[in-house]
Amino acid sequence: MDIYFYNTLTRKKEKFISNEKGKVKMYSCGPTVYYFAHIGNLRAYLFMDNLRRVLKYNGYELKHVMNITDVGHLVSDADEGEDKMLKAARRENKNPFEIAKFYTEAFFKDMDKLNIDKPEIIAKATEHIDIMEEYVKKIIENGYTYQTENTIYFDTSKLDKYGILSNRQVEDQKAGARVEFDPNKKNISDFALWIKAPENHLMKWDSFFGKSYPGWHLECSAMGYKYLGENFDIHTGGIDHIPIHHENEIAQSKGFSGKIPANYWMHVDFLTVDGGKMSKSLNNLYTLSDLEQKGFDPIVYRMFNFSSIYRSKINFTWEGMEAAKKALNRLREGYQNHLKGNADISDDIIKDLEKRFHEAINDDLNMPLAMSVVWEAIRYPEKSVKIAKLLEKFDTVLGVKITKKEKQEIPQEIQELIEQRKKARAEKNWAESDRIRDLITEKGFSVKDTKDGVEITKIIK
Ligand code: AMP
Ligand code: ZN
Repeated sequence: MDIYFYNTLTRKKEKFISNEKGKVKMYSCGPTVYYFAHIGNLRAYLFMDNLRRVLKYNGYELKHVMNITDVGHLVSDADEGEDKMLKAARRENKNPFEIAKFYTEAFFKDMDKLNIDKPEIIAKATEHIDIMEEYVKKIIENGYTYQTENTIYFDTSKLDKYGILSNRQVEDQKAGARVEFDPNKKNISDFALWIKAPENHLMKWDSFFGKSYPGWHLECSAMGYKYLGENFDIHTGGIDHIPIHHENEIAQSKGFSGKIPANYWMHVDFLTVDGGKMSKSLNNLYTLSDLEQKGFDPIVYRMFNFSSIYRSKINFTWEGMEAAKKALNRLREGYQNHLKGNADISDDIIKDLEKRFHEAINDDLNMPLAMSVVWEAIRYPEKSVKIAKLLEKFDTVLGVKITKKEKQEIPQEIQELIEQRKKARAEKNWAESDRIRDLITEKGFSVKDTKDGVEITKIIK
């Protein structure tokens, strides 16, 4: 079945065709490990995981690289402010390598809890300084740079066009004037490739430019090239990467090889909280631990994200999380009901559900639509193992651990009715036993007598 993805580069939904049949090479911009990831960041990795799972569902073999930024990412994406790692080191009175180690581990713990598949290759910037140096030397050789006292800049005016991803003109940037114009730069969109380290700078390497360090954008170009080559299939990131970071990656690749590094560029929109931006000052910047402390299994947050397509904003509320929690419980219970079912439903029904689920995920990862098919399967009136098996297949994309058994909470009232029924049966009062069974069913639970005793299941409508 064909797959369609929205490509930021062409601004339209396109049929996905990989460079090599049956294989996908993909790069995702990963975290800057200076603090715990917040749930907005985590949405970006849930999207990345969703994409991986959809490609796998379609039978592709993946070679997927994600970087860990542990040097060079300044507070602003556009060469301004302090390095985020150094700022964190000062804040926590540690060295930047300790900071990186601690928050990288914390990040992977979060990934695990969210059941996010680990990309095949995890590449740390600080372990790839040599390839970055090689890469920058070639850009210099190809004539795309100029040097000031402390910095090697990429000269964006050397490109036939800078800004192809965001379709932004260099003039627009001047008009916006958000970025203060560094007098050493020739053009406002020029950016630092390699920077001379000040005397007491903590992260620096010996290189052709003396003691120095790479600019942030360089790592993704160089590591993408190292593992995936000059041109690969998909590049992902958050929408905030479009105007600067990804434009600069494209510029670097053009300066290096003349090629645009990836054919499909996919970007995930932001998570808002209570309708606005997440921020420490508003006290609404949540991490996964905050959700856990409120009693939510991290998988609930995964479920929550399926309520919106990745290219739309999604608004986080605690009510939304409550709804996702209920939905996850019903999903798992509904699966168990099918697993125990013995109705013989026709293969055409299974095929039709499978087809519509597949079409939805292949339509640019339309998860809300895919979920509607999942619910249809759950609610299918006849309970059948065939549907349970289909749901297991769907869960290779959903990743919500559908087979996990919920601890069923049987309300006190139902438990008392079960006891009364037991008593009635012991007294061979079958009429009373049936009356209580009907009452229990009316209250939303089914009763089944097995050789091991009575089995109570919540009825999923
Ligand atoms: P950083 O670690 O700051 O480089 O960000 C990691 C990822 O999170 C990037 O892909 C960002 O685009 C993404 N991101 C940051 N804030 C949000 C948000 N509120 N919603 C969704 N993604 C976000
Ligand atoms: Zn990147």
